[in-house]
Amino acid sequence: MKNFGLDIWSDDNFIIKGDTVKINHANQPSLLQITQEIREKGYKGPLLLRFPHLIQKQISTLFSTFEEAKKEFGYRGNFHAVFPLKVNQFPNFIHALIDVSQHYDYGLEAGSKAELIIAITKTPLGAPITVNGFKDKEMISLCFIAAKMGHNITVTIEGLGELETIIEVNEEFNKDSDIPVSPKIGARIRLHSSGIGIWAKSGGYTSKFGLTSTELLEAYGMLKQHKLLDRLWMIHFHIGSQMGDIAPLKKALREAGNIYAELKRRGADSLTAINIGGGLAVEYSQHGSSIERNYSLREFANDVVYLMQEIAKRKGVEEPDIFTESGRYIAASHSVLIAPVLELFSQEYHKKALRLKEKNPPLVQELHDLFNTINRKNAREYLHDALDHMESLLTLFDLGYIDLEDRSNTEILVNLIIKKAISLLRNEGSGELKKLQDRIQERYLVNFSLFQSLPDFWGLAQQFPVMPLDRLDTTPTNPASIWDITCDSDGEIGFNRELPLYLHDIDVSKEEYFLAFFLTGAYQEVLGMQHNLFTHPTECVINFNQDGSYSIDDLIEAQNLMDVLDDLDYDTGIIDKALKYQIEESNLISQEEKRELLGKLYLYLSENSYLKTIQAQNEQGQAK
Ligand SMILES: *Cc1c(COP(=O)(O)O)cnc(C)c1O
Repeated sequence: MKNFGLDIWSDDNFIIKGDTVKINHANQPSLLQITQEIREKGYKGPLLLRFPHLIQKQISTLFSTFEEAKKEFGYRGNFHAVFPLKVNQFPNFIHALIDVSQHYDYGLEAGSKAELIIAITKTPLGAPITVNGFKDKEMISLCFIAAKMGHNITVTIEGLGELETIIEVNEEFNKDSDIPVSPKIGARIRLHSSGIGIWAKSGGYTSKFGLTSTELLEAYGMLKQHKLLDRLWMIHFHIGSQMGDIAPLKKALREAGNIYAELKRRGADSLTAINIGGGLAVEYSQHGSSIERNYSLREFANDVVYLMQEIAKRKGVEEPDIFTESGRYIAASHSVLIAPVLELFSQEYHKKALRLKEKNPPLVQELHDLFNTINRKNAREYLHDALDHMESLLTLFDLGYIDLEDRSNTEILVNLIIKKAISLLRNEGSGELKKLQDRIQERYLVNFSLFQSLPDFWGLAQQFPVMPLDRLDTTPTNPASIWDITCDSDGEIGFNRELPLYLHDIDVSKEEYFLAFFLTGAYQEVLGMQHNLFTHPTECVINFNQDGSYSIDDLIEAQNLMDVLDDLDYDTGIIDKALKYQIEESNLISQEEKRELLGKLYLYLSENSYLKTIQAQNEQGQAK
C-alpha cells in the first residue's frame, strides 16, 4: 500500500508533501498543523474536522456532471438534487451545506418529522424538499403547512394507506380555502430488481417501501377520483446505499422509466419527474485489490440520462426531469476524524527489554547471533532457524531446563528477527511472510471510540482509509492493529493480512503520533453509539479565507460527564449531592483534604470522557 492508498480514495482532496499530509486546497495547510492549533487551545481527545470546501466540490461535481451528460445527449429534462438528511443532520454540516449550495437550487430530503422540521427551516423557499418514509397524519399535515408557507415540497406515497391520509388531510386543509394549496405528490415504486451489497434491502419486492404495480394503478384511480391527479408529478425509487456495481441501477432505471411512461400514457399529465434516490458509491478502499466501485460519476450520469431518453422516445412521452438524493457521495469526504495514539502494546518486544545473561543457553545465544547478523541474503534461512529454535526453547522451558528470563529473551529475539526478515524481504511478498506479520503486529491504542465514530466498521465491516498525520517521508514497517479505548473487545480494527496497514514505530512517551480516519462524513455521526458513554468528539469547521489562509470556526466541545448522564435522564442534581455527601461523610479523609478532593472532582466532571493523553501531560511539561 503506497502512500496509504491516497491515490485511490482521496480524489485529490489530500496530498502528501514533505513528511505530512496536507489539504490540497488554498494554502495547503497540513492536518497536523490544524490539529496542533486546536489542541493548543486545550481540546484533547479525538477531533472531528469538517471541510465545507469539500461539500461544495461534491455538489458542484454532481450538478456539472449531469449537465454535461444532458448536453451530450441533447436531453430536454432538468436536473435537480436534494440532500437526504438521514446521512448527516448535524448543524455544523447542514449549515455549511446550505451555505455552499446557494447557486444550485439544492434542497433537502426528510424521512421523519424532526428531519422535516430541519428541511422546512433550512431549505430556501423554492428549492425542492422531498419527504420519504412512513408518515402519519401529523407528518402529512406538516407537509401541507410547508406547502402553504410556499415551499416546493413533494410528499412521496409509500403505501395506499398514506394516500388515504393525504386525501383526508387535503380535505381538512383546503375545504374552506379560496386557493387550495397542497404539496406535490410522488409515488415510490417497489422494484422487481433489487440492489446488491450489504445495503440492498431498500430495493426489490421484499423492500420495506413502495407501491407494487397493482397498488400504483389503484393509487392512480384514487388520485383521479379526489381530483389530486394534477399533484402527482414524481416517480421515486431508491435501490440501496453504496452501490458498488452499476448494473442494478440500470435495471431499476428501465423499470422506473417504463412505469413513468405507462402512467403518463394513462393520463397522468402532471407527471414530469423521476427521482432515482441515492446509492452513488464512495471509494473507501486503500488497496487496489479491494476497489468498492466499478463506475465513475460520469458513467452513472450518462446511464441515467441515456436510459431515460431512450424510454421516453420509445414510448412517445416527454423526457422527465431527473432528481437525485445522493447523500453518501455528497457528505462522506467532508469530515476527517483525528485521534492521538496513546500507547503501543507490544513494546515488550523491544531490544531494550532483553535480559541477556553472562552465559545464556546455547540456543538463546544463537538467536542473538542470528539477530545481529541477519541480512538480505540470509534472511529467509535465518528466519527459519529462529522459528525452529523457538519451538525447541519453548519445549525446554516446559521441561524445566531454562528459566523465565531465557524464555522472555527467546520471545523478544524471535520477534525482532521476524520483523527484520519481513522488512529485508519486503519486495519478495510470500504467503509465509504474510502469515508471520500477524505474530509481530503492533497494537496501537487510540484515543477514540469505534462505536461512536466508525459504527459502520463495527456493524458492517465497512473500511475507512486511515493514515498517520506525519512521518510520511519514512516507510512505516509495523503491521498495525488499532484499538479504541472502550472496554469492548469489538472496539478493534484488527490487522488484516489481505488489506494490511503499516504504521510507524514510535515512542509515545517522547513524541506525538496522530491517526486520521477519512471519509467519515456520511452516516457515521448519527449512527454513532455512546457505548461506554463516549460521546460525539469535539468538532469544528475549517473554512478557507480569500487569502488562502484557514480559520477554525464553530467549535463544539465533546459533552462533559454530567451532560452525558443528563442525556440518559439521570437526575444530575441527585448525582451531584451523592458525590458531595460521600466525600463529606467519609472518615478516611481529613477536613482540608475534603475541600481539595471536591475541587478535583468538579474539575473532572466538567471534562469529557476521552482520555487525557500521555502527550497532554508532556505538552504541559514542555510548556513550563
Ligand atoms: C438513504 C436514502 C438516500 C441516500 O442514499 P445514499 O446512498 O447515501 O446516497 C436517498 N434516498 C432515500 C429514499 C434514502 O432512504
